[in-house]
Amino acid sequence: MKVLFAAGECYPFVKTGGLGDVVGSLPKYLAECGAEVSVVLPLYGDIPYIYRSKMNYIKNFTVPMSWRKQYCGVFKYTKDNVNFYFIDNEYYFKRSGVFGHGDDGERFSFFTRAVLMMLKELDYRPDIIHCHDWHTAMIPVMYKAEFQYYEFYRDIKTVLTVHNLKFQGVFRRDMLGNCLNLDDYLYRDGTMSYYDCINFMQGGLKTCDEITTVSKTYSHEIEEPFFGDGLDGVMRECRDKLTGIVNGIDYEIFNPKTDIYIEKNYDEDSMAGKAVDKLALQKELGLDEGKGVPIISMVTRLTSQKGLDIVKECIEDIICRGVQLVVLGTGDSDYENYFRYLDDKYTGSVSANIKFDNGLAQRIYAGSDIFLMPSLFEPCGLGQLIALRYGTIPVVRETGGLKDTVQFYNEATEEGNGFTFYDYNSYELKRAINTSLDYYSDKRQWKKLMKNAMKCDNSWHKAAGEYISLYQKLLTKNGEEGIALEAAPDEVV
Ligand code: ADP
Repeated sequence: MKVLFAAGECYPFVKTGGLGDVVGSLPKYLAECGAEVSVVLPLYGDIPYIYRSKMNYIKNFTVPMSWRKQYCGVFKYTKDNVNFYFIDNEYYFKRSGVFGHGDDGERFSFFTRAVLMMLKELDYRPDIIHCHDWHTAMIPVMYKAEFQYYEFYRDIKTVLTVHNLKFQGVFRRDMLGNCLNLDDYLYRDGTMSYYDCINFMQGGLKTCDEITTVSKTYSHEIEEPFFGDGLDGVMRECRDKLTGIVNGIDYEIFNPKTDIYIEKNYDEDSMAGKAVDKLALQKELGLDEGKGVPIISMVTRLTSQKGLDIVKECIEDIICRGVQLVVLGTGDSDYENYFRYLDDKYTGSVSANIKFDNGLAQRIYAGSDIFLMPSLFEPCGLGQLIALRYGTIPVVRETGGLKDTVQFYNEATEEGNGFTFYDYNSYELKRAINTSLDYYSDKRQWKKLMKNAMKCDNSWHKAAGEYISLYQKLLTKNGEEGIALEAAPDEVV
């Protein structure tokens, strides 16, 4: 079974959030299941030299975009049995930053056609192209409208994973012809039309063979107007081909036993290292040093999705309980400035780190006690999964993947791995944080909670098995035999 992942980001080359983590780790686990997996992504200017220097140039060809003819180079790098292809065009990708440029629609239109053309150019025909979010959602549309009619491309299946329906790629209608080289009938027949514009995500959802999203709860939520963000009707229409598969995390990268970024390694059987990491974190961030003071942390994009408005309403009351707060994130300037203000006001108790820093993130996961994720909506969320792995107890809102992965601690049965609340308001959030702090002061209960958290299995093994089953189902749909794997999915699970 040959699977090609197409995505706009992939750790460790470039990462802006959870999408990068998933695309960087899931292929490795699919490869362990016996699938032959490749990943294709743009050759961004931000990809560190350490990786660039190891890439091999393969070939170049020309990509037509209406009246333009664009250069496209292909580079290759192989790691953990996964082939990574990089699409090179300096005009589109040699800039700092990954997304958020004014011409993202044109950049990813180029990428879409380049990926499909690359297959024939390299004589590499995958059975499945697995696309991720709006950046690559036009691949199924372009494939169905054009490429499927060529012998080489016949019967390739397409899967689209929705990591966050908030971001849809909505652009001017004339981009269909001008950048994508596709006919305007795709607007007129409703595939792409979104008010007066075209919507990349909508096109992908309507034309791909299977849709997945990153948790079961989110797969139901997006059929409602609030979560669907204008595409809830499309999600209801596509219900029969939609599956929710909860993300995992890379257990090799996020492993307190081997993590190279933290002061002292530890695991669920010997947790002494966690206290050392806490003191090291306090020292590094200029917080008052003390083992007994609970540290609440957030590692997050600083946007309204992450529940920061309700955090703002109650966090000072919490800090006044003698708690320390550590924030690592970038995003909306209002939130960035708010946390800088708290850092100034509560010197020694609050540390605001307005930057993107993978190493510091891991030291925070290891060195803090409570991880806050009160999201307004959360397709899956990786922060809480990483926190659990490091024995840091999540306090989350019951939405999307947070609901699927965090269960309220039950003192009587000693089951559960964190604290949750449902109603989106600061009163409920404050109550959940206060409950967690009450448990924190009970050493025996807290130890049990930490053990429960670290015992949770949020590795990719289960999810990888579910993806393999989905691919198998897709490939046998047309009455074909399916494609053999070295291990059956259930053996892998
Ligand atoms: P989202 O994808 O919505 O941003 P997730 O929780 O799914 O949220 O994934 C966020 C990922 O990005 C996690 O691995 C988290 O640790 C990481 N992350 C977020 N902000 C930062 C930051 N400022 N520095 C380092 N890592 C970050």
